[in-house]
Amino acid sequence: MGIQDRLIEDVGLREGVSRLTEDKIQKTVNAVIQGETGARLKAYAEICLRCGMCTEACHFYLSHDQDPSYAPAAKVKQTIGTLLANSGRVSPDQIYNMAQIAYSECNLCRRCVHFCPVGVDTAYMMITMRRICHKLGVTPQYIQDTAHSHSATFNQMWVKDDEWTDTLQWQEDEARDEFPDLRIPLDKEGADVYYSVIAPEPKFRTQLIYQAAAILHTAKIDWTMPAEPGWDNSDMCMFTGDFEMMGRLKRKHFESAQKLKVKRIVMGECGHAFRSVYDVGNRWAGWKHYPVPVVHSVEFFWELLTQGKIKLVSKYPGPVTLQDPCNIVRGRGLGDKLREVIRILVDGEIVETASNREHNLCCSAGGGVINCGPPFKNARVAACKAKADQLRATGVKTIIAPCHNCHGGLDDTVHKYELGMEIKFLGDIIYQCMERPET
Ligand code: SF4
Ligand code: SF4
Repeated sequence: MGIQDRLIEDVGLREGVSRLTEDKIQKTVNAVIQGETGARLKAYAEICLRCGMCTEACHFYLSHDQDPSYAPAAKVKQTIGTLLANSGRVSPDQIYNMAQIAYSECNLCRRCVHFCPVGVDTAYMMITMRRICHKLGVTPQYIQDTAHSHSATFNQMWVKDDEWTDTLQWQEDEARDEFPDLRIPLDKEGADVYYSVIAPEPKFRTQLIYQAAAILHTAKIDWTMPAEPGWDNSDMCMFTGDFEMMGRLKRKHFESAQKLKVKRIVMGECGHAFRSVYDVGNRWAGWKHYPVPVVHSVEFFWELLTQGKIKLVSKYPGPVTLQDPCNIVRGRGLGDKLREVIRILVDGEIVETASNREHNLCCSAGGGVINCGPPFKNARVAACKAKADQLRATGVKTIIAPCHNCHGGLDDTVHKYELGMEIKFLGDIIYQCMERPET
């Protein structure tokens, strides 16, 4: 089976390719390859041994009856490899096929890199393909809408400025029934912690803001949230290939923290946002290191729990399993700290999935794939079969996943494969089990 046998109709891709000519494609491809990729792409393209050791690493291959067209090296061959072999001259229909592979058949999870004897980074090849597609105006409609929203409003969910502060105030009011002197301090200059979230939190996961406020309050942290744009740390532009906009968004995020002269940024439980802030966006914006220290909430919760700032009145009943988010475990090495946090919180065993830590299988939602929306949903969930098999084999009923994307992907997976499991953020468990301050 090849890509032509599984094409999915998407209006963004279809409209995009309708405006292309072979001349335009060639000019754009060569501009990106010659102007932006340097030796890295050339090296990866030339050193691939065609050994196939990356093949079994990819959950798309594993979940599709070992269809070789889903192997990482095959995806490269069908996309960037074909462009290089043809000096960038291909047809608009070929670009459609390549865009579908790059946007919806690779989660940019980088598991395959760990299996390659010469270190070929297939995710880099796929993001370069997306970059070309972005320059050609060929992107899936749903993720492009999200990127547009972020570029127009500085948050990906089109949350208006007054809705943002209203939502924070609403959560503060709600929380004060339980914690009478709790505040969500806005624009507090010089605070120790600037807490940032992704836009779905104020839009439809407000309980996470409530829980974070409760935890920060209980731990007596000197913290703040910004009243103005810059608070959304997510970044679909990183995944569409719109790197100029990605850099602008990351600059806004850091500038918002710098303006408040905070000591550090603590990010909520999201993986891709963390990748965009600590690794990809800051480099594109020209900072060798990010200008304000950044920690993911896994590290932050680890500090609170090991330093006794949060104490527990009970433990969450185990056993549990966990989802290692690619961007914070494979990408940042937080696997040990994540397990230490879970061991503190849970009464019972951590039952590991067969592939874990840096070898974890992706949730199939990452890399912007879930954001490509309904047209690609069934294909995305089909790619999670290997993950579903591993989850079922743990025999437990609770998955802990400190990442929004993982939650989205695993929700669909648990439903589709009838796993009967529930999925928890660390914040859910800490909030449930922590000792409340005396009033
Ligand atoms: S980065 Fe992940 S999804 Fe993409 S080819 Fe490699 S293993 Fe597969
Ligand atoms: S493991 Fe590396 S060298 Fe071997 S086929 Fe895959 S990308 Fe090429």
